[in-house]
Parts: sequence; structure tokens; C-alpha cells
Amino acid sequence: TRKYNFCAGPAALPEAVLLKAQAEMTDWQGRGLSVMEMSHRSEEFVGIAEKAEQDLRDLLNIPSNYKVLFMQGGASSQFAMVPLNLLGQGGRPNYLKTGVWAKKAIAEASRYADTHIAGNCEARNFTSVPAQSEIVLSDDAAYLHFTSNETIGGLQFDYLPESGSIPLVCDMSSDILSRPLDVTDYGVIYAGAQKNIGPAGLTLVIIRDDLLDQAMDVIPSMMSYRIMADNDSMYNTPPTYAWYLSGLVFDWLKNDVGGLEKMAEINARKAAKLYAAIDNSHFYGNPIAVANRSQMNVPFTLADDALDKVFLQEAEQNGLLNLAGHRSVGGMRASIYNAVPEAAVDALIAFMGDFEQRHG
Ligand code: PLP
Repeated sequence: TRKYNFCAGPAALPEAVLLKAQAEMTDWQGRGLSVMEMSHRSEEFVGIAEKAEQDLRDLLNIPSNYKVLFMQGGASSQFAMVPLNLLGQGGRPNYLKTGVWAKKAIAEASRYADTHIAGNCEARNFTSVPAQSEIVLSDDAAYLHFTSNETIGGLQFDYLPESGSIPLVCDMSSDILSRPLDVTDYGVIYAGAQKNIGPAGLTLVIIRDDLLDQAMDVIPSMMSYRIMADNDSMYNTPPTYAWYLSGLVFDWLKNDVGGLEKMAEINARKAAKLYAAIDNSHFYGNPIAVANRSQMNVPFTLADDALDKVFLQEAEQNGLLNLAGHRSVGGMRASIYNAVPEAAVDALIAFMGDFEQRHG
């Protein structure tokens, strides 16, 4: 009875994870209580938390000089936490402006400091990322922030911006864990959980430990990476159930999927066939430069937007949910995160072909 869910977030979770959580819902491993009802300081929960972190470390090959923080407040809170934590010793925050999410990060940082836009693709309507040759850091750059995947625009970096000795900070909310990466290229990686990690309510931060002590004095304790790191992300009550479920997702990625290289292969195949279906039709369109097309979020338009409503209605009748584009841009968007099976993409492509035949 489960349908195919293309929601951008909170997004589909692996069915195996949901079934495991369901089986353990009222009685976790014979202890007679739910994970939701456990003290975060209990031996049981600390074990769950540590396994989740270790599985994530294994998946991403995170070195020991990087801390993993399980925080709250969503990626939007990170837009403030990044400058608050990194600008205590001065310097200007540098940003790449690539779309809606980068703009929000820039707006928040600009409340604390004079932000330098080191690269900007707005003039081409965010249809391709700034090239390395277009990126110019300020002399006093404290960090370079970029959004690896713009969830609304469907624009994804196909290369790692070069910033020399300046720490790279990345909002990886919508493509973390979709492919392998080298954590040592980054100073800070952050991501809201509700796409490739787990349910909403948890925010992941991976930070190089030499960056833990550059915070502004006024930083709230709850926003301090140093305080969170020193308290194993349990300075206050963490979102325990979201942490547990994310741990089940990491375990699924590691043991059911077989790791991030395998995941990347599947994701590449899913995206390639969906973009091919769009490109091979005269009815559907996607404006993003081929090299920067997102493998996670595939926005597309219909030749006649008067048909949008019918498309969405019929899609839903065919078990294909949440294909409407973001309310700010309209059109369609298929988010094809890790947990969206290849069969879902196949079903979408078949439906799109059929719809075009009948309406095109
Ligand atoms: N950054 C990116 C790239 C996103 O896609 C989103 C949400 O979709 C956010 C930030 C904001 O995340 P949150 O809702 O967790 O604050």
C-alpha cells in the first residue's frame, strides 16, 4: 500500500528502516520500553547514539580530528551558527550565491558581519554553478560557504570549490550521503536530517576540531559547537528518536545498500534515466546546465503550465506523490533521494510518457 513519495523533505525513508522501527516501537530489544521513553543518559540510549555515530563515521570515513554533532534547529539554524561559531577572531564570511538556500544563508550571516559574495550565478538565473575561475575570495576571508545542492533550483556542484587554506563550509542538507566524499576537504559540513539522514528534528554537523574555538563571545550555549562537542551532543535533551531513526538509516546504508559507492551508482542511474526522459521529450523541460543538474532534486516543467494541476492529480492517482515544485517556483520537482527506489523513478518515467501521449 505504500506509494512512491517524491517529497523534497521531510522525504521518503527506507521501508526497511520504518519496519524495523515499527517492530521495536513499543519494546526496544526486550527492554520493555520504547526508545522514545528512554533517558538520553541511559546505557541503552548512549549505545544507540554511539552506534549511529560510528556507522556514520564508517560510511563517510570521518577522521578522528573531526567531531560529529547531533544538533537541533534545522539547517536554517546553522545559517546563524556558522558565523557565530567561526567569526570570533574576525575575518569576513565568504559565500557562493547559487540559489534560494544560499541566499538564506547569506542573509543570516549578514546579520553578524559584512558578507562577501565570492561567487554568484544569479545573472544566469542559477542555471549553472559559479566556475572556479569566477570565484574570488576576500583578502580577509574567515571561511567560504557553499550549498552543494540547491534543493529548489535543482542545481548541484560537480566540483569542489578551491579555497586554499580558508576553511570550506558546506550546506549539504540535500545531498549528504548520496555519494562518497572526502571529509578532510571541509572545515564544516552541516545538513538537516529530513532528506537523506532521517526524520526532521535532527541536524548533523561535522566539524574539524581546530575550528571549535573561534566563536563569538555572545554565542548562545545551545549554538556553540564547542559546548556541543564537549557534551557529546547531550548538553540538553537531544532529539532522541530522530537520532535513533537516523542510526537505522546509517545501518541500512552500510549493510543493506553496501556503502556510499554503491548508493552513488544507484543514484546516478536514477537521475540519468529521469533527465533522459525529460530531454527526449518535447513536452518536459529542465533548464539546468547538464553538468550541474542535481542528482537528488529534478525540477521540470510541462510545455503548458495549465496542465500542471491535472498532471499532479493523475500522478497521485497513479501512486506518485508530492511532485509539485516548490511554492516559490511552481512547476514540478521529483526528489529522488537515497530512499526513493529505482522502481519509483521507472514508474514516474512511464507515467510521464503516458501523460505526454494523452495531453502533449
Ligand atoms: N539548506 C538546504 C539546501 C535545504 O534544502 C533546506 C531545506 O529544505 C534547508 C537548508 C533548510 O533546512 P531546515 O528546514 O532543516 O532548516
